[in-house]
Amino acid sequence: MTSAENRCSLCGESAAVRLTDPERRLCAGHFIEDVETRVLVAMEREQMIAPGDRVAVGLSGGKDSTALLLLLHRFLPTLGATLVAATVDEGIAGYREETLRAAESLTKELGIEHVIVTFADLFGDDLDRLLVGRETQGCTVCGVLRRRALAEAVKRTGATKLATGHNLDDEAQSVLMNILRGDLPRLVSDTSTGQPGHFVPRIKPLAVLSEKEIVTYLLLRGYYRDLPECPYAVTALRSEVRTMLAGLEHRHPGTMLRLMRFRDGARGSAGPAATGVLGTCRICGELTSGEVCQVCRLLGRGG
Ligand SMILES: [Zn+2]
Ligand SMILES: [Zn+2]
Repeated sequence: MTSAENRCSLCGESAAVRLTDPERRLCAGHFIEDVETRVLVAMEREQMIAPGDRVAVGLSGGKDSTALLLLLHRFLPTLGATLVAATVDEGIAGYREETLRAAESLTKELGIEHVIVTFADLFGDDLDRLLVGRETQGCTVCGVLRRRALAEAVKRTGATKLATGHNLDDEAQSVLMNILRGDLPRLVSDTSTGQPGHFVPRIKPLAVLSEKEIVTYLLLRGYYRDLPECPYAVTALRSEVRTMLAGLEHRHPGTMLRLMRFRDGARGSAGPAATGVLGTCRICGELTSGEVCQVCRLLGRGG
């Protein structure tokens, strides 16, 4: 490789990163700027933030939510909005202690208000104990309980929006999984609208960045940490789809972006989502499509 090929396309400094679509090489400073500009442009294009918003970041302490907090900490003041962090402590031994500590030290460093809720407080026990005898369903059970716990944490922050760290890889995997399951309603459903009194609108500012770009961003800004993965995070279909998609993206760059374009097109042609009739759970009073919500059913509440 000649030296001219390994220079930043913008300033001629030595390049740190090579990006495709469009093909370009960038130095550390220009890569950080490129990432931040893409996120800001996406937020503006999709009108994610309105002046006066109080935005809660769902902060797990992992790489995606860490990058999201750093980015929003930079941008929100210029958009006239304020920032707060919300964390769910599921009680997963060997995993959550360390990520929780990372989350707390970050909000402390940045001076961001931080609300933490625990499964033990909300559901009477740690995830590890709630899962005894049904460990293989870990992700499913945890997913349902986490969603409720995060909604509760967000309620306590008084936020008007919930920002989550879903990246391009996560979103493209979900699109493909919904296709493979034949689940068109879920493919076209849109959680960005919220439910008055129950869920605040959700935004996903990082959906334009690949996991690789997020890791590189954190490394270059000096915030990358090697943290444990959740021991339950191996739902069979998602890990197969992740492997397959990584291979496709490598051989056919832009595959993930094209999947997102496909989903957006499908949403557009599906018209306004049919939300279905929601009632309230007779045990806990939260919104549900049945008589008893998923959380109460999982916890065996009320028989
Ligand atoms: Zn440069
Ligand atoms: Zn319920």
